[in-house]
Amino acid sequence: METINFWRLNHPQYQSQRQEEYINGYGEHPYGLPGIDCKGCGEIWSNVRILPISCPEEYRKNKHITNVSPTPDLVHRNLQSGIAIAIGQKEFKFLPGDKFQPIYLDIKTKPKADFLWSTLGSVLVSERIKNEFEHLQLTGIQFAPVTMRKVGDKLIKYPFEIKHENEFYYEMIITSYSKSPSGAEIITTCEYCGREAFDRNKRRIEMKQDMWNGQDVFFLNTTIWIIVTDRVKKVLQELEATNIVFESLS
Ligand SMILES: [Zn+2]
Repeated sequence: METINFWRLNHPQYQSQRQEEYINGYGEHPYGLPGIDCKGCGEIWSNVRILPISCPEEYRKNKHITNVSPTPDLVHRNLQSGIAIAIGQKEFKFLPGDKFQPIYLDIKTKPKADFLWSTLGSVLVSERIKNEFEHLQLTGIQFAPVTMRKVGDKLIKYPFEIKHENEFYYEMIITSYSKSPSGAEIITTCEYCGREAFDRNKRRIEMKQDMWNGQDVFFLNTTIWIIVTDRVKKVLQELEATNIVFESLS
């Protein structure tokens, strides 16, 4: 069988925090599920996951949706089931900390790079990258438009060449995962909150061929590392996509 190489798609090293901030800005999802304070397992927890789902209108003023303070598990379960009904997907399994669409971008200089590392758990991409990924029908991802909120007029010198100017951006939401790496087998699952625990000391951060579920872009399970295949890497290199590096996982 042909061996496929997997690459972690990451941001480059910046020369300063200011440079990082000016290139990428800050993405904000104002609506999301709070963390959970579970009396079952005694844990207060949330995860980093961005959903391609728009926050239902009737929840946009709900204090639990606009405030990240953890809520008791009973309140959380009611929120989850209410939202699942509101989006018409009764069986949808939410997790504490899930973020909804939309996303807003605040940035001190007009964004120019193809990739913007503006938020945890996803990456923003220029329209030309989105269009090419959609044209190629790459799997494992969905796109949602980014609303530009505060865009400053500061000028910066980019540490890489900008050949393609960009106007519109989209959040690239990663919707698929590899299989769990070895050592990350689930030890316990809380029946109140669904929290799955594994031994962090035993987990090996690696991407083996047999962990691949077949998508072009995905998260390395149990992490928020964005992984791409050789094919995606080649596409991005041909597009001369900026503000990314490929880190070898083999
Ligand atoms: Zn629990």
